[in-house]
Amino acid sequence: MNSEKTRLSYTGFDQLPINGIWRHGKGSKVLHDLNPYNNDILVEIPHVNQEDVDEAYRGAARVQPTWAALLPGERAAVMRHAAQVMEARQEEVVQWLIQETGSTRIKATMEWGTVRAVLLEGATLPYLVEGRILPADILGKESRMYRKPVGVVGIISPWNWPMQLSARSAIPALAVGNAIVVKPASDTPVTGGLLLAKILEEAGLPAGVFSVVVGAGSEIGDAFVTHSIPRVISFTGSTSVGRNIARLAAEGPMLKRLELELGGNGPFVVLNDADLDAAVDAAVFGKFLHQGQTCMSVNRFIVDDGVHDAFLDRFVERVRKLKFGNPDEPDTMVGPIINESQFKGLCSRIKEAVSAGARKVVGEEAQGLVLPPHVFADVTNEMHVAQTESFGPIAPFIRVRGEEEALKIANDTDLGLAAAIFTRDVERGLRFAQRLESGMAHVNDQPVNDLPFNPFGGEKNSGVGRFNGVWAIAAFTTDQWISIQHEPRHYL
Ligand code: NAD
Repeated sequence: MNSEKTRLSYTGFDQLPINGIWRHGKGSKVLHDLNPYNNDILVEIPHVNQEDVDEAYRGAARVQPTWAALLPGERAAVMRHAAQVMEARQEEVVQWLIQETGSTRIKATMEWGTVRAVLLEGATLPYLVEGRILPADILGKESRMYRKPVGVVGIISPWNWPMQLSARSAIPALAVGNAIVVKPASDTPVTGGLLLAKILEEAGLPAGVFSVVVGAGSEIGDAFVTHSIPRVISFTGSTSVGRNIARLAAEGPMLKRLELELGGNGPFVVLNDADLDAAVDAAVFGKFLHQGQTCMSVNRFIVDDGVHDAFLDRFVERVRKLKFGNPDEPDTMVGPIINESQFKGLCSRIKEAVSAGARKVVGEEAQGLVLPPHVFADVTNEMHVAQTESFGPIAPFIRVRGEEEALKIANDTDLGLAAAIFTRDVERGLRFAQRLESGMAHVNDQPVNDLPFNPFGGEKNSGVGRFNGVWAIAAFTTDQWISIQHEPRHYL
C-alpha cells in the first residue's frame, strides 16, 4: 500500500468516475452537497445527463470481460487491499459520514466497520463461484453448469447508510466479476458512491469497472433502470420508488433481474414477562440510532398491558437523558435529520399524531434540523404514525392485552423487514418470532442489525431478493447449461 497516498485526504469530489475517467457530469444542474447539521456546502457536483449514464454503462460493459478474466485471487486481492485502505482512512471516512449524512460518531463508526467487513467478505467470494456437473440420462452426454457474472450491475442506494448500502451490492457484484454503475442518493453523493470508488481505485480496481453517476432520481432514474446494458438492478430505498423501478425494469428494451430492499415498519414487542431493563436499553438504541433513519429502526412499540406503564416510564427516563445536537461529539445519540423535506415531513407527522389522539410524553422543540426524540403514548395501530414508516426519532407506544393481540398488531402492516420481541422465556420468544411476517426477527435484542455483515432482507412490501454473503453469488451471477455429446447420438 502506498502510505504517502493514504495520508492525503481524497479531493476532487466534484468529478465523477465515468468510463474510466474522473470528469464533470454534463448535465445542466449542479448538486449542492450540504452538511445537514450546519448547512455548509461540502462540494458542488455538476449532475450527469442521460448521455453520461449511457457512457458509464457502455464503459462498464467494455471493461467487464477483462476484470472477470482475472484470477479469483487477483480480484480478492483488490478487495483485501481496499479493506486496508479503509483502515488507513478510518477517520476520513467517518468524518465524511458525519458531515454529509448527519451520522453521529457512533453510527458513522459502525458504518465504517460494516463496509470494511463487506470488503473482507468480498475477498472470499471469488473462490465460492462454482459450476456443477449434472447427471445426464443420455448415453455419452455430459451436462455441465457454468456460473458466470451477469455482466453489468446498476446500483441505486439511499442516503441513510449510504456507504454500507452501496457497498453491500457493489462489493459482491465486483468480487464475482461484474462491472458496476452506482447512482447514489442526491443527499449523499460522496459517501454513497464517490468515496468507495476512490478507495477501490487506490486498491487497484481497474479503471471503468466502477462508474458513479450523480443526478436526481426523477431525472436520470428512468434512463438508469431501463438501459439495455445492466442485467441486474440492485435497489435499496423506499417501497414507492422500488415499485416504480420494478415497473420500469419490465418495460425497458431488455428484461433484467431486480434485487429490491425497501422500507420497514418494525415492531418492538414487549411481552408481560420481559426483562424490562434489557428491553429499555435495546429499545433506546433500536429507535434512536441515526435519528431513527434506518430501515430496520423500531417504528412501533407494542407493549403488553401488564408491563406497559413500567416500560414506558423507564424508556422515557432514558430518552430524556439522550444527548442530541452536534453529531461530531462522541456521546451525541441524535443528530440532524438528513434534509429540510424529511424534517418537514416529520414535523407534520408529529402534528398529525397529536390530532389523531396520541399523547405526547416527550418532545422538545427542534434546533435547526435536529429534531429531539419524541415519544407518544395512547397510539392505535390505525393511526398514520403507526401504519407508515416514520424514518425519524418518533416512538409511538401501542398498548395490547396478551400475546395474540401483540402478534396481530405486529403483523398488521404491509411491510415486513425487521422485528424485535422481548420475553424471559426464549422458547416463547422463538415461537412468536416464527409467526412474525418479517425477514428478520430478534428475540431479546433490538432490530437494527449491528452485525458487520447481514445477509438477510425483507418480506411483503419490504423487498424482494437477498444479495449478501452466499446469496450474492446467486444475485450477481447467472448459470449456463452446456452439454457435450461425446459419442454420436441416434435419434431415429
Ligand atoms: P428513496 O426511495 O427516495 O431513494 C432511494 C434512491 O432511489 C436514491 O438514490 C434516489 O435518488 C433514487 N430514486 C428516487 N427516485 C427514483 C426514480 N424515479 N428512479 C430511479 N431512482 C430513483 O429512499 P430514501 O429516502 O433515499 O431512503 C429511505 C428509504 O429507504 C426508507 O423507506 C428505508 O426504509 C429504505 N431503506 C431500506 C433498506 C433495506 O435494506 N431494506 C435500507 C435502507 C433504507
